Amino acid sequence: MTDFSDILETARRAQRNRPTTGELAKIFLRYHDAVLARQSELLDVIQKETGKARGHAFDEVLDVAITSRHYAHIAAKTLKTRRKKGALPVLTRTVVERDPVGVVGIISPWNYPLSLTMSDAIPALLAGNAVVLKPDSKTPETALLAAEMLFEAGLPRDLFQVVPGSGATVGQAIAHNCDYLMFTGSTATGRKLGAIAGERLIGYSAELGGKNPLIVDESADLAKAAEVAAQACFANSGQLCISIERIYVHRAIAQEFTEAFVKRTQEMKVGVGGWEYDMGILISEEHATKVHEFVEDAVAKGARVLAGGIPPEGRLYQPTILVDVPEDARVKREEVFGPLVYLETVDSMDEAVARANDTDYGLNASVVAKPSVARRIASRLHAGTVNINEGFAAAWASIDAPMGGWKASGLGRRHGVEGLLKFTESRTVAEQRLVLISGGKIVERETYAQVMSTALKLGRKFL
Ligand code: NAD
Repeated sequence: MTDFSDILETARRAQRNRPTTGELAKIFLRYHDAVLARQSELLDVIQKETGKARGHAFDEVLDVAITSRHYAHIAAKTLKTRRKKGALPVLTRTVVERDPVGVVGIISPWNYPLSLTMSDAIPALLAGNAVVLKPDSKTPETALLAAEMLFEAGLPRDLFQVVPGSGATVGQAIAHNCDYLMFTGSTATGRKLGAIAGERLIGYSAELGGKNPLIVDESADLAKAAEVAAQACFANSGQLCISIERIYVHRAIAQEFTEAFVKRTQEMKVGVGGWEYDMGILISEEHATKVHEFVEDAVAKGARVLAGGIPPEGRLYQPTILVDVPEDARVKREEVFGPLVYLETVDSMDEAVARANDTDYGLNASVVAKPSVARRIASRLHAGTVNINEGFAAAWASIDAPMGGWKASGLGRRHGVEGLLKFTESRTVAEQRLVLISGGKIVERETYAQVMSTALKLGRKFL
């Protein structure tokens, strides 16, 4: 690694000389076109680094194109100086201005190496910052190619530096030097980085782990429920922070739903290659072994396997469904981050909601039910996103709305205006006209108190 202080100095210089918001917006619209036009190059490198199915790699291309277009369109109007209600009507003119924080540090994981690097870099850059990005050590090439395409679209190189390396070296250097830290990864690392951000008093966003529930009500369309569940649990081989790892199904339809879901799961085509595969292989043999250990532990404690559950063949792990998982099995509460889900039967939606919320996490949840029922259930779930009649894609792709985690699933939000404004500092400028707020020497203190009290009482009545 080049000396980190050089990287930082280069970033600061580039940030001071950055293009205007309007110029950046044009660059990101060109980037939108470039990632779509050159998608096969991106898909190849994503697949080479992760082993995911081509269809799931394409989700990343879509995501980056959508994010580029969205923030390119909203950046200028979201960042512009805004009038606010002043302290005293007419006499106080108050505005809020926005400045970029400076250098945003991004530390990202391996599971979505295009999405989870670029989709935070895009709003950070559009907000006027420089970005220093550390991709995961397993997936640096995707980030480097994505950056190259951005330079070709017109972004000055020094404004966006991709620095591959380990968490212990590059990750720590970023955390100790950046002006805002954007982290996506495990809850354990998120806590450590949060401590550094807290000590340094810099802004920090953490998109962390999940143990996401899916609730299937008796009003659900069964074929749809089985399809939603298969997508929600096994997309990207379950290596997805918002993927479903536990399902609560109403007793009235439990048997039929289970049969349909097991059948759908067993039909999935798993392997490495082109568009025909429903699910790819896992990131490493080590990770496949870890996933299987969750199954072995649960089975040893009394769980039954309804699909999959066989030892991995290298990095290939079959999509797996468990039932009768006892309370002390590790899979019950720990995040697996693989193609493994367990099913439980519930007698009511109250019970389903209580069990869904009984977790340290709160990232994503899903409900399959008649829409009127599903909406009532959704509003009771403790999660940053809830998808109705979808697993995770509806909320994730609703880029205008915030997304992130409750409880141990994170801090702060990406997407929406939140995902742009967090990379800025606000400055409230309040201009007082004619009289001072305190009355000054013009008005006696007692008179001032009387006038203000009357004004407040009137305000209470009319405003
Ligand atoms: P991880 O925390 O081990 O690593 C993530 C990144 O942090 C990597 O780039 C790594 O090099 C870096 N890192 C690790 N230790 C570090 C340290 N001490 N200092 C600085 N940087 C450090 O996570 P992982 O296991 O690679 O990724 C999987 C986890 O990420 C899962 O828990 C998953 O749920 C979570 N995740 C969350 C989201 C989300 O949006 N909420 C998205 C994807 C993945």
